[in-house]
Amino acid sequence: MSEEQYREFPCDICGATDPVEVPHSRGYTNDQPVHICRRCGFVYVVRRRSAERIAEVWSTEIFGGTYTAAIPAVTARLTYVAEFLATTVGLDGRKVAEIGAGEGRFLGMVKDRYGAQVFGIEPSAANGRLLEAAGIPHYTGTIEAYVDGKEGSEGAFDLVAVLWTLENCQDCKALLRGAHRLLKPGGVVVVATGSRILVPFKKPLHTYLSTLPADTNSFRFSANTLRGVLAVSGFESVHINRFIDHDILCVIGRRLDDGSPARWSGDDYLDVYGFFERWHVDTAMYFPDQVV
Ligand SMILES: [Zn+2]
Repeated sequence: MSEEQYREFPCDICGATDPVEVPHSRGYTNDQPVHICRRCGFVYVVRRRSAERIAEVWSTEIFGGTYTAAIPAVTARLTYVAEFLATTVGLDGRKVAEIGAGEGRFLGMVKDRYGAQVFGIEPSAANGRLLEAAGIPHYTGTIEAYVDGKEGSEGAFDLVAVLWTLENCQDCKALLRGAHRLLKPGGVVVVATGSRILVPFKKPLHTYLSTLPADTNSFRFSANTLRGVLAVSGFESVHINRFIDHDILCVIGRRLDDGSPARWSGDDYLDVYGFFERWHVDTAMYFPDQVV
């Protein structure tokens, strides 16, 4: 097997290149570093492979053809996002694209319940066959390849969904810029993630950080840094869910068309550092055998 090609990335939001490591993280990640930006507090992985390689690792080595979204927890969180959209920006009859459409569970739901016109962008060929069988129009490949290719439909959609995907891609800003290109002027993107920080601990640290290749989960968002990456990608955050006591952080951003960046503020990196220190202590209290 040829040697993997890695590249070092600056902070995706502010561009700084002097991060500090998340305290204790190497003990949970099989010695792979995860970093905190000292300037904006964003938590990200510096060394990453190509977007295509990371998508391939997800679809072959991690999901391996056995992952399915047809379980109660996934149905519940997708229903939550659909309801959040329906009660804020509306879904009835809208043209909806999903980046990282998986098996098409979300798109099938919004098509059946709200009459949305749906389209999936999904790198896994196996999932592409499931989308085909479900009658969901789709493109098999990454968003980067889609918007750069001949078949890309720029400016065609009212809404783009990025659900439990932004944290797992190689370049979160590039993915959101792809979403920006898919949208009509004034269209909205919805980002939902479970990789949320600066909130009460929802799980022990050993099940949050993982021993999977670090670049398959390169980003971990707080409410501030998720709004930050949306802002630097051309979106103004217009709705945010009540994330403090949910497992889900869900932000809706409206596409800005005049090129002016939306205002954003990051986190104090020392707050983020202290958050992970406390999380490590909390995990050690309840799961001493898991703390390395
Ligand atoms: Zn930064």
